[in-house]
Amino acid sequence: MPNNQDLAQRDLKVLWHPCTQMKDHEQWPPIPIRRAFGVWLEDFEGTRYLDAISSWWVNLFGHAHPAINAALKDQLDTLEHVLLAGFTHEPAVSLAERLTQIAPKGLSRCFYADNGSSAVEVALKMSVHYWRNQGQPEKTRFMTLQNSYHGETLGALGVGDVGLYRETYDALLLTPIRVMSPDAYQRSEGETAKDVALRAIAAMKQALDTHGHEVAAVIIEPLVQCAGGMRMYDPSYLTLLRETCDHYGVHLIADEIAVGFGRTGTLFASHQGPMTPDFLCLSKGLTGGYLPLSAVLTLESIYDAFYAEHAAGKAFLHSHSYTGNALACRAALATLDLLTETTLIRNHTLAQAMKASLETLQDHPNVAEIRQTGMILAIELVKDKKTREPFDKAERLGHRVYRHSLSAGVLLRPLGDVMYFMPPYVISHDEIELMGKTAIEGIHQALKGHR
Ligand code: PMP
Repeated sequence: MPNNQDLAQRDLKVLWHPCTQMKDHEQWPPIPIRRAFGVWLEDFEGTRYLDAISSWWVNLFGHAHPAINAALKDQLDTLEHVLLAGFTHEPAVSLAERLTQIAPKGLSRCFYADNGSSAVEVALKMSVHYWRNQGQPEKTRFMTLQNSYHGETLGALGVGDVGLYRETYDALLLTPIRVMSPDAYQRSEGETAKDVALRAIAAMKQALDTHGHEVAAVIIEPLVQCAGGMRMYDPSYLTLLRETCDHYGVHLIADEIAVGFGRTGTLFASHQGPMTPDFLCLSKGLTGGYLPLSAVLTLESIYDAFYAEHAAGKAFLHSHSYTGNALACRAALATLDLLTETTLIRNHTLAQAMKASLETLQDHPNVAEIRQTGMILAIELVKDKKTREPFDKAERLGHRVYRHSLSAGVLLRPLGDVMYFMPPYVISHDEIELMGKTAIEGIHQALKGHR
């Protein structure tokens, strides 16, 4: 059996890791994981790490869940994969039935892809194609919120607004119309989150007054702008935005890739409006964190605009080889079996425990705010609590907290200087306490001598 060091060395000879300056690995080699169970990752020497970020937000019910494992083993001996054009299979059909039943009302059609960014690409293309099929080919632009993130393929990156991911590739990207985000972190003194949402809606209306005629869709991350630093906003924005999009005749794309499946306290974040988007993009937790799969749910009226004689050339053109993979769909079905009302009730208690675990951090001079939406909790670290002046990026404060936390056995990968908890729903109260204690210690350690 390989050991940690061997595997890390072999890795560094051949691999190029995502979202990584590979030179960093000279100092901090990648951590080889031998196996995982529940919230725990274990390396080759038996050292364990609590996966507090659900392996990039994909894992819902822990690693190696017996029920998902069993479903996959069964599926493996039956059908691993078949193309989805001209053919179909039971897991794909059952999953589409289940998703359309639990999604916001009216979303009755399910189109599969195989990762989050591709789901966004599908929604963008479907929206533009819908308008074209309806005789409005001029509607080809998108509106996006400041600091939003929708993935990193060129189309998805093109409707995102996080500079870190976008700037280098700007020459290759779409030019969406960028509108104020309802992000409640921007509130000025005396303002509520709802006030910020109202301001953001006013800005959206103004932008649509000018651009509505050329816009196909507005794309948002409902309730939490995750990759943009877990920035959160008031649910009233969702219903107001739905009304606004209807008024101006533009689609609303809800990218629930990160926030779907119970993360925000409800099954889907859109339920908290409540509102039904024209397109709902799902991925990540869809398969419980097992296999890549994504789905775009849409309305029957949108589907109908593509339904015509072959010669009319109205069919939607998008295909990935692994679309609707049978193993992935089966993992998703097993995951949905686990995701019940009881999960949401238990998550509510876990969310309270997460908050309580950071009680002593509230008044810390370098904590601008601790914010939370359901099972997502974020700590925004700043140089000055009053002015919210950030730390110099070169200090890599968040990264320092990450290093300290790892040495204490907790994986807390930050977003810049935002530390966050987004654990699997099977986390125990003791594990939450460990997560909280480690985050606090990590922050104290990282700040020593770096004010
Ligand atoms: N949209 C959102 C809101 C996301 O958080 C992500 C992934 N972080 C994506 C899209 C892209 O998904 P994927 O990484 O599977 O392409």
